[in-house]
Amino acid sequence: MCVLNRVKKQDCCGCGACVNICPKQSLELKEDKEGFLQVKLAQNNCIQCGICEKACPVINSPEEKEREITAFAVKNTNQTQRLQSSSGGVFTALAHKTLEEGGIVCAARFDKDFSIIHDFCQTKEELPQYMGSKYVQSDLRDCFKKIKDYLNNNTKLLFVGTPCQVMALKLYLRKEYENLIAIEIVCHGVSSPLAWRKYLSDVCKRKNITLDDIKHISFRNKEKSWRVFNLKIEGKTNTILKENLYDNPFLRGFLRNLFLRQSCHHCPAKNFKSNADLSLADYWGIDRFHPEMDDNKGVSAVLCYNDKITLDKNEIKQRNNEMILEIKSTNLENILANNSALLHSVAPHKDREQFFEALQTQDITPLLNKYVGEPKAEKLKRKTRFILSDIKSMIIKKGGF
Ligand SMILES: Cc1cc2nc3c(=O)[nH]c(=O)nc-3n(C[C@H](O)[C@H](O)[C@H](O)COP(=O)(O)OP(=O)(O)OC[C@H]3O[C@@H](n4cnc5c(N)ncnc54)[C@H](O)[C@@H]3O)c2cc1C
Repeated sequence: MCVLNRVKKQDCCGCGACVNICPKQSLELKEDKEGFLQVKLAQNNCIQCGICEKACPVINSPEEKEREITAFAVKNTNQTQRLQSSSGGVFTALAHKTLEEGGIVCAARFDKDFSIIHDFCQTKEELPQYMGSKYVQSDLRDCFKKIKDYLNNNTKLLFVGTPCQVMALKLYLRKEYENLIAIEIVCHGVSSPLAWRKYLSDVCKRKNITLDDIKHISFRNKEKSWRVFNLKIEGKTNTILKENLYDNPFLRGFLRNLFLRQSCHHCPAKNFKSNADLSLADYWGIDRFHPEMDDNKGVSAVLCYNDKITLDKNEIKQRNNEMILEIKSTNLENILANNSALLHSVAPHKDREQFFEALQTQDITPLLNKYVGEPKAEKLKRKTRFILSDIKSMIIKKGGF
């Protein structure tokens, strides 16, 4: 049997484990109408070996996965690194340690055209490209094959990906490797690469620039706040765009599930099923549970499932007597109560199908305004609330009435 006969299009998560493992190169990934990679028949030479089915996270998703979990609230003490990261900057600290030990990091970065790809980071200088969440599905390309080669050559490897990507990697490898650390980022769902491409091209048209004029993009610019998502597009000489989730149509579309991958709405790997060694998430609710750690610049919730990474070990916490990570043991229930993405998939936006249909022929920004735009009355109310709260904090700073 072949995955193509067993996995429906709407269930496939596009990890490409089947494509990479097929001994006859019978399968390939091709972009579908919505812009997501889908498995297709490349050539009619399948020998029905069934190996592709064994690597598929959809077919092999367990009913329940009991895991022993230790939970921490963690933040990187290097403020610059934490500001470049989406939550507490834990990924960067772990990546630094891997590179210092002669290992390699496989994670997601922007490609030249600002599409998202998984790639290998071998030096600290390259690391900033890999930091921060990019809320669009990344293309794993042939990373699984290369990871296997590195692991078989006894190279230490840190892999970071969405839960389905981690699950796919573990199934692809078909055995546990001591030299692999697999981290899942807790995932709301991944946006359509087509929607992202069209949005960026729209921004370029409006601002009269090309992609070459863009230097950096951050989906979680924290200059003002970690809590209020903010998309910043930096040009070579100036800021091209800086908008928070209320004003930015792409962030609104992402957070209101307008253009997530279909399989994200029934994720096979959430709820501790991915077999990751560690999960990283935003620690929502930190202001109530560990207020002394909260400065609105980001704190990570870290869940450890084994002792491959023991977060409170000194070699991770500090280097040359300098503290790298501030770590507090925390209650798992507090994290779960405030971060539903760990356990549950989100429902699609009611107009998801109409949006993608219209996207085939129309510009994206008017469509985003139509389907997820903020009604004028709500916008006015929100802006008034913000102004009042700014005035209140100015008065408090000046010593009150
Ligand atoms: C699509 C997506 C959805 C998310 N949804 C949630 C959520 O609902 N709740 C929550 O608590 N956290 C969510 N996160 C995770 C969160 O935003 C932080 O990435 C995480 O807490 C780690 O933060 P950090 O500061 O330690 O590291 P960061 O420096 O932010 O590192 C992020 C890591 O994720 C990798 N990465 C970035 N983009 C992608 C991508 N598209 N695909 C695969 N890997 C990627 C990077 O290479 C890096 O290794 C999501 C992340 C992504 C990419």
